Amino acid sequence: MFREKFYAIDAHCHVYPDAIAAKAARATCRFYDFDDPANDGTIGRLLAIAEESGIDGFVIQSVATTPHQVEDINRFIAASVAAHPGVLYGLGTLHPDCADMAAEVRLIVSLGLHGVKLHPDIQRVALDDDRCRRIFRLCADEGLPVLLHTGDRRYDYSNPNRLIPILREFPDLQVVGAHFGGFSVWEEATAALADFGNLSVDCSSSLGFLSADKARQLVGRYGASRVMFGSDYPLWQPQHEAELLCGLRLSDADTAAIFSENAKRVYHLQ
Ligand SMILES: [Zn+2]
Repeated sequence: MFREKFYAIDAHCHVYPDAIAAKAARATCRFYDFDDPANDGTIGRLLAIAEESGIDGFVIQSVATTPHQVEDINRFIAASVAAHPGVLYGLGTLHPDCADMAAEVRLIVSLGLHGVKLHPDIQRVALDDDRCRRIFRLCADEGLPVLLHTGDRRYDYSNPNRLIPILREFPDLQVVGAHFGGFSVWEEATAALADFGNLSVDCSSSLGFLSADKARQLVGRYGASRVMFGSDYPLWQPQHEAELLCGLRLSDADTAAIFSENAKRVYHLQ
């Protein structure tokens, strides 16, 4: 079991206020044609998992689908983190159509959030759109890493062709590409992206779709110091994802880096 051996941080968790959590989690599953989610997307369920599973920390976030949700979501994430220090860490959300983007970024910084999550496919904006470029410039200037949903065979918002110009244009921006840099296009994404030093990735919503051999190859291509553990809670069971990571049989040093050291470094967690 990983719990005796590794300090584990699940660096990719979506959470919602209790009143809308189950519905929001199911909507995400429908967007991806997945079966019903493993969990309900509440903070309470995540804390229960912390007790049960041996996962020690969770990086939580929520994606705004309209600009007017942005401030409420960021305050919800910050309040949730404040209620559970040392267990929860938060990322902010932004929307490409925020009227005063600089003010929203300043609020994220003042709330002590550790970065910004964007989901181009759900927010319907291409990563290399000028509205995203404005977000990336502001985040780079504030030293805020950005966690990006990346990859979808069905759409052209977040695939490597959209991310590569951003990695070139913003060498000072810390980018975390979810799902090994390209959900559903894992191998093409890794081949196209792995040489960009300003990119890290997480393994969320990936290990359940890939053979252990294939996942090991992706980790090897990025290097274990650039891969983070993440479950995409509430879609999957974090403890099961942690077991899949252990099943790759990487060295203890590489496993420890993926389980928490990389997330601590990139997101400045303490
Ligand atoms: Zn996500």
